[in-house]
Amino acid sequence: MAGGDGRLNHDLLPGEKGPQDACGVFGVWAPGEEVAKLSYFGLYALQHRGQESAGIATSDGSKILIYKDMGLVSQVFNEASLSTLLGHLAVGHTRYSTTGSSSWQNAQPTLGRTAGGTVALGHNGNLTNTAELLELVRERYPKVDGELARGNTTDTAVITALLTGDLDHTLEATAMEVLPRLRGAFCLVFMDETTLYAARDPQGVRPLVLGRLERGWVVASETAALDIVGASFVREVEPGELITIDQNGLRTQRFAEVKRAGCVFEYVYLARPDTTIAGRGVHEARVEMGRQLAAEYPVEADLVIPTPESGTPAAIGYAQASGIPFGQGLVKNTYVGRTFIQPSETIRQRGIKLKLNPLKEVIKGKRLIVVDDSIVRGNTQRALVSMLREAGAAEVHVRISSPPITWPCFYGIDFASRAELIATGLGVDEVRQAIGADSLGYLSEDGMIASTEQPRESLCTACFTGVYPIKLPESQHLGKNLLERDFSSNGCDPGPDAEFEGVLTPESTLADTLAQHGQVPFGDPGRPE
Ligand code: 5GP
Ligand code: MG
Repeated sequence: MAGGDGRLNHDLLPGEKGPQDACGVFGVWAPGEEVAKLSYFGLYALQHRGQESAGIATSDGSKILIYKDMGLVSQVFNEASLSTLLGHLAVGHTRYSTTGSSSWQNAQPTLGRTAGGTVALGHNGNLTNTAELLELVRERYPKVDGELARGNTTDTAVITALLTGDLDHTLEATAMEVLPRLRGAFCLVFMDETTLYAARDPQGVRPLVLGRLERGWVVASETAALDIVGASFVREVEPGELITIDQNGLRTQRFAEVKRAGCVFEYVYLARPDTTIAGRGVHEARVEMGRQLAAEYPVEADLVIPTPESGTPAAIGYAQASGIPFGQGLVKNTYVGRTFIQPSETIRQRGIKLKLNPLKEVIKGKRLIVVDDSIVRGNTQRALVSMLREAGAAEVHVRISSPPITWPCFYGIDFASRAELIATGLGVDEVRQAIGADSLGYLSEDGMIASTEQPRESLCTACFTGVYPIKLPESQHLGKNLLERDFSSNGCDPGPDAEFEGVLTPESTLADTLAQHGQVPFGDPGRPE
């Protein structure tokens, strides 16, 4: 279902499936505060991490309320819906699908019943042992009646089932037993009626931070979401840590040893520039990537222009280091990507102009350096180079502030399949030809890593190097639609009013599913297990 009609994305060509982002999670424990509103604005600050659905659950100590729907945070909520979400603790989520399709059933927070009450949970990341965990659910709780039975096909529903199935233990005790069994990337915020929890995978693949309010605590995917709600940054949620917050304060427990492998692509593209990850400001890291790029791939030119918005910090850095003036050569329509209307064919052909329009007076006759953060399929730069030439550019030199992307991500970014990644099959000069540029330079892996100021061993660079720090399962246990495929036989008692909409038929084969959802050619030489 990825790439289905009407999906929102950041791509220049609306309606084309592009790489997608990770999700955003937010949690707050703050008696006396309007926690639904804090969650709303926290999610609003995390909107870039997922635009498919949004949801908030709150609790007043005795009852959990939840509101979620498809769409942007601002489309899902209004004053009226927020005012019904009462309580002093809340969890919220914005979703971009990586396991399970984009549908209402799969929106988060997910819900589950425990002995003592209800659990609401939001997840950012992507598990790599979902199939194995589903087996565990079947063994332990053959009659689950939760999200899975209601047709939720996400890895998150599997986590929810495991956390809520055990009626003999507290949620906290169950979490300490279940969390060490999860593999892959996960930042979880969850709660029952009285307690807020936050947990992060042992690699700390995706960011998760803890903040302090005058009257409470906040956890969020990025520090930018702390800023907007007026929370001060306390520290990161540590990889392998479970944090518990209730009326007795904050407690911490370790469920696994730290094996840091933070996603380098968060620094390159995913996170907001005004976020800090592992002590390094993302904007500064991107500017430094641009500086390094200028040192590695200098060229004589008149003007450095960014590909808005994501290429801007690196373009600033390139201009600084090269001494070539920085200029705005393109005007971006900020509202593109926020419409559900698919463009007509005539408009589609001019797709890029929906989003970017050149400033002809700036560009005419100039030798340009065009800076962007990454090339995935090459669509953006191909369209941009030809548009700039049409607008009269004398030369177009493309500079990319990350290395060629050649491997898919299994830890929370829904990248195009290997076959669709332009740099998989083509060398740099062939990519240059394909996008029509006069020259092309990609930042080296070393340059990128140095710019993050993180030790190389503590980063995940899989999309650039094919070195996957968390073991990947056999091919048949991977794939975005794993659970849709498995569902007809998932062994869970659907309960009386369960719906199975959108489930693939038993005949649809793994190969179909993988091909349809663009998964990797497995058994590729050189990829470590
Ligand atoms: P391409 O056009 O080459 O397929 O994609 C490259 C463009 O997509 C760049 O401008 C980059 O900023 C953007 N991009 C890179 N990674 C992602 C991602 O994970 N999600 C989205 N929506 N855009 C991305
Ligand atoms: Mg971009």
